[in-house]
Amino acid sequence: MPRKGPIMERVHLLTLGCPKNLADSELMLGALAQAGFEITLDPEDAQVLIVNTCAFIEAAKKESLDAILDAAEVKHRGAGKRLVVAGCLSQRYGEELREKLPEVDVFVGTGNFLELPELLRRTEAPEARATVYPGAAHLLPRATAPRIKTGDFFTSYLKISEGCNHTCAFCIIPKIRGRHESRPLEDLAAEARALTASGVREINLIAQDLTAYGRDLDSRTSLAALLRELSRIDDLHWIRLLYCYPNFVTDELLDTIAELPNVVKYIDMPLQHADDAILRAMRRERSGAALKKLLERVRARIPGVALRTSFIVGFPGETDAAFARLVDFVREIEFDRVGVFTYSREENTAAGELPDQLPERVKRERRAALMETQADISLKKNRGLVGRDVEVLVEGPLPGRATRTRGRTAGQAPDIDGSVFFKGEAEPGEFVRVRIEKAQSYDLHGSVAGLWSGEEERVASHG
Ligand code: SF4
Repeated sequence: MPRKGPIMERVHLLTLGCPKNLADSELMLGALAQAGFEITLDPEDAQVLIVNTCAFIEAAKKESLDAILDAAEVKHRGAGKRLVVAGCLSQRYGEELREKLPEVDVFVGTGNFLELPELLRRTEAPEARATVYPGAAHLLPRATAPRIKTGDFFTSYLKISEGCNHTCAFCIIPKIRGRHESRPLEDLAAEARALTASGVREINLIAQDLTAYGRDLDSRTSLAALLRELSRIDDLHWIRLLYCYPNFVTDELLDTIAELPNVVKYIDMPLQHADDAILRAMRRERSGAALKKLLERVRARIPGVALRTSFIVGFPGETDAAFARLVDFVREIEFDRVGVFTYSREENTAAGELPDQLPERVKRERRAALMETQADISLKKNRGLVGRDVEVLVEGPLPGRATRTRGRTAGQAPDIDGSVFFKGEAEPGEFVRVRIEKAQSYDLHGSVAGLWSGEEERVASHG
């Protein structure tokens, strides 16, 4: 990373929230390093402490506030330290937080965090502190924007667009991140090539809604066109799609996923519910029957696809019968992966104003019941893999267990899905063949049976 001028200060950054926030953090670190800041993993050792926050739901806000208070304690222990709050919480509540958190020196929003080096310079004098710089709702970085990748060297997220034009009744994101805007296709291809040249073998495409990609650009640009471009990159072994809004999953997209060998047969499509009345109240526009038809279409066009979805339980007005319909739907469809969230009442959202808000206890019970339903389905599907050889991306040895290694199949996305634990020699970033010997609801266990040659049949869905 080229540096301009001498090293000025050491900076520590903590990221909360989703992979989209992590992608922003990596850009923030890139901008800081380019400006001469040194990155440190030890907050005690840093002169600048940054918390990149999340404000999606109440629990995320609380986690962010706790992290800010922890960082404020670190700040008080050392002379001359500064505390920066970045991300969605800052964008949404910057002014309010300034009153409540006088220990914070700089608030920077989701659209101007690349200006952080300059803002830190401006606020070097103590009297210039406690400043809010919210900027625009979001920014679209150029491919040339320096980025410091964190985490495993062989996998990366690639944010292809920002913002969202949907109006889901429960969601505050469009108010924080603004309207949808796509990054240029050639920028994304350049960034993906640079990532692959640095050793990345898996790219996970992220956005608020991947399927919106390209609709604000020229008529030739679409998610399918982007996949075709990325699939040409040598050594890019897995390309994965996370967050596809169901209404815009076209046949062209499905056929492209099916046809390109390095696009994993995995779709993450948050459905949120399956009861017609709740879907309408959520402003998700689709009926349970339409969703079922869509899922049949996905499975017919991409044989062996692993389907991930997420649901919100305890939405206002969700009756016992509506919840039972959701459970039936999950039983009938047999998704590969399901995430279940309890509804969080957010101010300034349409759902926050709805009558019949449910008690937290009911929401928690429904979440546990739906998770239990899915655990049985996942176990059954995972058992179907016992005795088979699957392609596994090696992540590395298990801490404290030198003889066990962890990895993921094509049907397991990083951070959100389960893992494969196996015996045998394998290096991080390699693709190996693992014979599955034991299955649990979320994880698989086995032994290395050789390197993955690419000739074998790839298994994504464990069904
Ligand atoms: S698609 Fe709906 S839930 Fe997702 S970010 Fe947009 S408004 Fe929020």
